[in-house]
Formats: sequence, structure tokens, C-alpha cells
Amino acid sequence: MSGPDERGALAGGRSYLAIPGPSVVPDRVLNAMHAASPNIYAGALIDMADTLLPDLKRAARTAHHAAIYIANGHGAWEAGFANVLAAGDGVLALITGRFGHGWADMAAQMGADVTRMDFGRAAPIDAAQVEEALRADTAHRIKLVVATHVDTSSSALSDLAAVRAALDAAGHPALLMADCIASFACDRFEMDAWGVDIAVTASQKGLMMPPGLAFVFFSDKAAEARQRLERVSPYWDWTLRAAPDQFYQYFFGTAPTHHLYGLRAALDMIHAEGMEGVWARHDRLARAIWAACGIWAEGGALAMNMADPAHRSRAVTALSLPAPRASDLRNWLEAEAGVTLGIGLGMAEPGDPAWHGFFRIGHMGHVNAHMVLGVLASIEAGLVALDIPHGSGALGAAAAVIGGS
Ligand SMILES: *Cc1c(COP(=O)(O)O)cnc(C)c1O
Repeated sequence: MSGPDERGALAGGRSYLAIPGPSVVPDRVLNAMHAASPNIYAGALIDMADTLLPDLKRAARTAHHAAIYIANGHGAWEAGFANVLAAGDGVLALITGRFGHGWADMAAQMGADVTRMDFGRAAPIDAAQVEEALRADTAHRIKLVVATHVDTSSSALSDLAAVRAALDAAGHPALLMADCIASFACDRFEMDAWGVDIAVTASQKGLMMPPGLAFVFFSDKAAEARQRLERVSPYWDWTLRAAPDQFYQYFFGTAPTHHLYGLRAALDMIHAEGMEGVWARHDRLARAIWAACGIWAEGGALAMNMADPAHRSRAVTALSLPAPRASDLRNWLEAEAGVTLGIGLGMAEPGDPAWHGFFRIGHMGHVNAHMVLGVLASIEAGLVALDIPHGSGALGAAAAVIGGS
């Protein structure tokens, strides 16, 4: 057997972080951020900032309102709740993985009366069950229905239009609130057409930015709910952020100057491609990944968490291998191929040996055919190196999806 020195290390060159956020930041975004500090009181930055909300709303497919926060995804969660949730309000939390639980925990910590409807770790939201629960709430105690569009832990994709239809069929007035942090600019999302009242997202996934910006989109009905609240903590209040009289009110203080340069570049890239193009690219790349994973799975070791393609996200794919092989594979790819895969999340507790049986491929944002094919070929090399049984022909199947019509 040859040692690593004889074989030569193969992890040099540009590394690839294929985890489900933070995602790959395009050079164009990084270069845009590499600038001297701008004047925040007058001039180009202020004119540019006025272009951001309209282009964010275009990406969310909404004609209504948007607010930007200096925050991560958890901040986006809290910003959404802070504007519509009063202590004691009923919240129906629709949970399809770890992130749904985290959001429900936050609602409870903010004083809501939370009912959890947990669909498990490998299934989407079942709108029929939601309708039943809403029909049973004849006193309209539930003020908010919160749904995770893509739960990044399970990679489950849920049908938000179906959840809206359930609210309407039950004649229930609750607001529909969606966590689109993983799905935004990856999986199709149509806020207005789907009847979503509040959508939250963050910069470091499909928006191809470093972490640090959070976004909340809200309907007129949600804006009215905000007005009915007795008080909203001033930093999280979306009112002036969405319609400022003065520049500093967008951010309630100093603007996140360099992040705004990056965001402008990212939105330029997204709208040059077009939302339909962005979604179609993610769809084709995801189908290539699923094709490869489906064939590897024939070897009996690897499995995709979401069995039904209709319920799989195009931003992230959750997978398993008999423990500890998933960790072995991740470690091999990082050390030998320069590819970092995502850890499993929410499938087992860290410390439990079973934790080493899960991993995820992030394929959100700035990804293209050669990046995805490179990750897949690297995984195949890892399966070979580690002697993990797998079906043969996976890379050809992925290539056929990329190269097919
Ligand atoms: C990433 C993510 C979050 C949390 O975002 P942070 O920036 O880590 O706070 C919440 N929900 C979903 C679906 C996510 O993918």
C-alpha cells in the first residue's frame, strides 16, 4: 500500500464548501464588497440602497413590503414574530425537521401558545391535517400558521400553496408565515400567488452572500396585524425599515455598507439570470444529484432521506450511510478532495454514535454543472476509497441529466 506522500495529496487547489449555508460566494460579490468605506450621509450608497428592496421583492415574487435587518436567519425568524405576535397568541407550527422545531421554540420563548404539528424527519407538511386543525379552532385562537418551506435538516420541501388552500378551505383568518431561508432563490417561491403573508430569509444561502443580512417580506394583512400590536421592540419593527423617510431608518442605525455592495451584485446576478432561470438551474442540478444518489443507493448502504422526488428540495440533499461511514466519507472528501460536505442535522444527537450516519450536500446559490459533477465524482471516489458498497453508473446518470434535453 502506498502512503499519502507517494500517492500525492489531492486536496490542493480551490476548496469547495458544499454545505447548506453559508454557500459559495461568487467572486463578483466578493469583489463588489472589496471597497473603501462609503459616505453614509449622502451620495452613491444612498441611491443604490433604494434599488435593493424592489429587487428583493422581485425575487420573492411579491408586490408588497420588504425589510432588511443586520442579522442571520434566527434574526429573520425573530423579526417576523416581533411584528405580528402578542404574548398568548396561538401559533400552529408545521414541522418537517430540526429548523421547524427551532422556530417553534422561539415563538414559545416570545410568549406564544404554540401547537406543534410534527410531520417527522422525512415527510412534507400534510395540508389535509392542517385544514382539520384549523377547522377545529372555531374560536380562531390561532393567529399564525408557521411553515418551513424547505427544512434544511431533512431536505423536505413543502407545498405552501396547499397550506394557504387549507387556511382558506377552513375559513380561518390566521396569517401564513414561511421560513424560506434555505429555499429562497433555489426552490420556486411565489409569495403573492401562494398567499404567504410573511416570508423570512437570510443572505448566506441562495442569495450567495456572506451571513449577516436578514430579510422579511410581508403582506398588507400582516402590516395591519403589526398596527394592532400595542408595542413592537424598536429594532425589530419593520414599519420604517420598509418605508423609510431617511436612509438610516432602513437599518435603524449605521448601514451594513459592504454587505449592501455584495447584495447589489448578488441581485444583479440573480435578475440577469431571471428567477425562472435560477429555479431551472437548481432543478437540473438537483436532479443530477438525485440520479447519482439513486444509483449509489442500489449498493444498499447510501440512502436519500426524502424518498419521493416531489418532496425534495433543490437546495440541499440529506443522506445517510451506516454509522460511522457518513462521517468517514465527509472526512475523506475534506482531506483528499478539497470538498466539505454538510454534517447531518437533527437526525441524531451529537455524541450518539448514530450521528455519524448522516450527511448533507448543499447545492444552493452559486453552483453550476461542473461544481455539482465535481462533488458527485469526489463522493464516488470517497465511496471507492472507503470500500463503501454502491451501485455503479452514478456519474454517468448525473451527466445524462446535465447533458440531456
Ligand atoms: C439556515 C437556516 C436557518 C437559520 O439560519 P441562521 O442564519 O443559521 O440563523 C433557519 N431556517 C432554515 C430553513 C435554514 O436553512
